[in-house]
Amino acid sequence: PGSDVVILGAGPAGLVLANLLHQSGIDCVVLERASREHVETRARAGYLAPETVRILERHGLADGLRARGREHDVCEFRTPEGRFRLRYGGLGRGEPHTVYPQQSLVSDLIAEFTAAGGRIAFETEARSVTGVDGDRPTVLTHDLDGRPTQWPASYVAGCDGRHGAARRAIPAADARRRHSDHGVSWLAVLVAAPASMDAVGYAVHREGFAGHMSRGPETTRYYLQCDRGTATDSWSEDRIWSALAHRLRADEYGPLREGPVLERGIVHLESDVLRPLRHGSLFLVGDAASLVSPSAAKGANLAVLEAEILAQALAAAVLRGDPRPLLRYSDRCLSHIWRAQEFSHWMIRLLHAPTAPQESSGFHDSLRYARLESLRTSRSHQDWFAENYVGL
Ligand code: FAD
Repeated sequence: PGSDVVILGAGPAGLVLANLLHQSGIDCVVLERASREHVETRARAGYLAPETVRILERHGLADGLRARGREHDVCEFRTPEGRFRLRYGGLGRGEPHTVYPQQSLVSDLIAEFTAAGGRIAFETEARSVTGVDGDRPTVLTHDLDGRPTQWPASYVAGCDGRHGAARRAIPAADARRRHSDHGVSWLAVLVAAPASMDAVGYAVHREGFAGHMSRGPETTRYYLQCDRGTATDSWSEDRIWSALAHRLRADEYGPLREGPVLERGIVHLESDVLRPLRHGSLFLVGDAASLVSPSAAKGANLAVLEAEILAQALAAAVLRGDPRPLLRYSDRCLSHIWRAQEFSHWMIRLLHAPTAPQESSGFHDSLRYARLESLRTSRSHQDWFAENYVGL
């Protein structure tokens, strides 16, 4: 007979949606390509917006982050002109971030869902989604041995990221894609060392951007802008630490607390949005709906927000026969997505020298120093920054 809703992907989007549907008494199943251990240890995001925390609290999903998350509300810009700090928790709407690693949130959400009797099929990869134009869509999966299974449902929620099966199921002619490659790449490293400063650090340097973000008492994430085409392993640990110290101006502002590199990866700063986020009975959520560059830490937060909007709309349709919230789902999410894209793009332009040939005359570089100076000195600019930095 199948389920009311089949959810593809056990990331923040799929797991928040699964918990909320289950709490409403809607029958759902989560299909996840990777193993449980893999998703519970995959380090990615860490800064949760206040609205994300409110959503998780509203649905009784915030015990872990309340117990182990830490409030954080300071960022520091280091530039050739000096450094300045913004205590954004006292600016704008006066709200902080909560630092809580994404893998801890994912582990909490899996524990909550399975303890309540929810079903997750790990190591089960969605290969195709068919029948989304009718009222009985079906997901075809393969397990690790290649055994196929069909999962019929009334609705399918595509929470399986940008390269998942849900996006592929939408014919190109039926969706408009907005894409931008910002021309910037980062080497992202996670290190086993405490934070080097009590702030999120953004270094603007002629050799490229460097970033510093605490992830917990013993782990810190650093980013280093690198050339396109850089191989993940091509920088030695010595080179990473010396570039970080140089760009973060450790000579002037204090040494970095070094430790072994636990994980590394290359991130291309790209944005990608589909419209609409619905095709028949298939809905896209989180990174499957829109990829937002990690420059402003919005991706996981959007995923949680969209999951709540979709859960409420599916509850209206399944429990009360009211299809109207589902009709509004795409437009509601897209307004949040474009606000987040706009701010992330603003951050990219603030932190990196222009890469487009027509902008490399020095004019655009001078503009971003003027923008940094405005951020350092103008209280209204700082309020705007704080509101967007923690907002959704
Ligand atoms: P995902 O977390 O990607 O989950 C999708 C799931 O689907 C995965 O578990 C995947 O295995 C599974 N899947 C894929 N294909 C299939 C298939 N065919 N069948 C079944 N399952 C499938 N965001 C922030 O908000 N704050 C931050 O500080 C931040 N920092 C980041 C740092 C880095 C280095 C990176 C890479 C990202 C960062 N992000 C941040 C972005 C954030 O991690 C993502 O936006 C977030 O994970 C999106 O959640 P999701 O549930 O949509 O997708």
